[in-house]
Amino acid sequence: MDMDKLVSLCKRRGFIFPSSEIYGGINGFWDYGPLGVELKRNIKDAWWRDNVHARDDMVGLDCSIIMNPKVWEASGHVGGFSDPMSTCRQCKRLFRTDQVWDQLQESDWFQSLVATGRDSQSLAQWAAKKGKKLAPGLALVRNPTEILSWLAERARTQPDEPIDAKTFVQYLATEQDARTGLVLPCPNCGGDLTEPRNFNLMFETHVGAVADEASKAYLRPETAQGIFANFKNVVDTGRVKVPFGIAQVGKSFRNEITPRNFTFRSREFEQMEIEFFCRPEESATWYKYWRDTRFQWYVDHGLRSDRLRIRDHDPGELSFYSTATADIEYGFPFGVSELEGIAHRGDYDLTQHQKYSGKDLGYFDEERKERYVPHVIEPSAGADRAALAFLCEAYTEDEIGGEARTVLKFHPRLAPIKAAIFPLVKKDGMPEKAQAIEREMKRRFPVFYDEKGAIGRRYRRQDEAGTPFCITVDGQTLTDDTVTVRDRDSCRQWRVPSAGVARALQDLLEGQPIPGDE
Ligand code: ATP
Repeated sequence: MDMDKLVSLCKRRGFIFPSSEIYGGINGFWDYGPLGVELKRNIKDAWWRDNVHARDDMVGLDCSIIMNPKVWEASGHVGGFSDPMSTCRQCKRLFRTDQVWDQLQESDWFQSLVATGRDSQSLAQWAAKKGKKLAPGLALVRNPTEILSWLAERARTQPDEPIDAKTFVQYLATEQDARTGLVLPCPNCGGDLTEPRNFNLMFETHVGAVADEASKAYLRPETAQGIFANFKNVVDTGRVKVPFGIAQVGKSFRNEITPRNFTFRSREFEQMEIEFFCRPEESATWYKYWRDTRFQWYVDHGLRSDRLRIRDHDPGELSFYSTATADIEYGFPFGVSELEGIAHRGDYDLTQHQKYSGKDLGYFDEERKERYVPHVIEPSAGADRAALAFLCEAYTEDEIGGEARTVLKFHPRLAPIKAAIFPLVKKDGMPEKAQAIEREMKRRFPVFYDEKGAIGRRYRRQDEAGTPFCITVDGQTLTDDTVTVRDRDSCRQWRVPSAGVARALQDLLEGQPIPGDE
């Protein structure tokens, strides 16, 4: 699937728009349009229903976005929540150091350079023509004579050593580093990147009228810390007993250096997080439970292809406080990337907050008469990344009756609109009949009424919106009071009595097989 096609469908049909687009947008921020807001809400609702309402060991929470800055000192975000970042000395762009190689491979100039021969003549020609336009910052372009003579010398001294594309480009990159060949060039202009410097990802703001050090605060970079900070409050309400979890859905903010890949890496996004508190000796079992349960949740909501996978972190990758972490990953068109992380966090967070706040955050087990700090399993998901994965998975181009169509095959639970209702023509009482059905259905789920254009076109518009079923009031309705139901994925059609159509559709949406599929 082509990412550009999905982005354009999202814009055209009102799933996702660039934020403040009429002013040229703002990098890393996105708005959800009429269909997108329904999709994302359905994802969050399904998550909440399955993890909070359907369980008896979970409660919800909704914390403030700005918290006492000490929270972020205790959590380690003030000191450590940073990415190494490099700036281009020529074009001044910023890059996350660990993403430079990926971005380089995608860049036009890199692709054009590696496609050129490696002999001096081809390189000199490339530098004088294409390179001047595409990569004006590259040392080979700025100073071809020196770089090429060095390259020739190198070829003489090490004639048989093969060089991969990465090393080769490093050799051509910077005059000062040509001999060590260690630094990657700027993916934008080919220029020299500075040494990596740590860049804190938290957005800062000031609370109150005076903007000074004392009034500095942060927009939360994750929802999790609000849960830990309220652990004692929730325990004191007396509704919960370990093992239990606290769930929260809400906005988080990270000043990502290179927001990219549509909504995948945004600067404002929504998280769906659980902190599940348990006895230390039961934590390994709970970790496995959440790792498997969360994976299955995506499968159950339509991520059925082998693009969904789970990756256990190697011991060397784990945070010092974690004994196990797994990422649920999805193979997006731009690469395999994280949808959700499930981490065994031990007692790290509660202990940190205990230390920084001076409050006892231990838990007293009434039955065993003992006090301890619970261990925590954290399934941490992103609502926007989930929405993007569901969109990618649903996106299908197929052909029905010789006609090409684009269809979003969403799971019915996630589909923004559940059914569309059409009168075949705008006469003979068909619109009135269709509107009566619309009113009846609206009480149960979101529906869409459409009487404009050819019926085939109306079907295709709903296919693009991901609407599972369309109902058509036609000539036969007027004689036998039945309507046509059409299934989005198979385009199969059948008739049902119009009196029972709302109920019948509800059953289909809840998973009853369509006629002919039983
Ligand atoms: P990455 O390595 O991709 O930056 P992360 O490991 O820092 O992500 P976590 O801190 O574990 O992410 O956050 C938990 C979840 O929040 C992620 O799995 C993801 O779904 C979501 N998330 C994190 N950062 C972003 C972002 N910039 N845009 C959208 N969603 C995000």
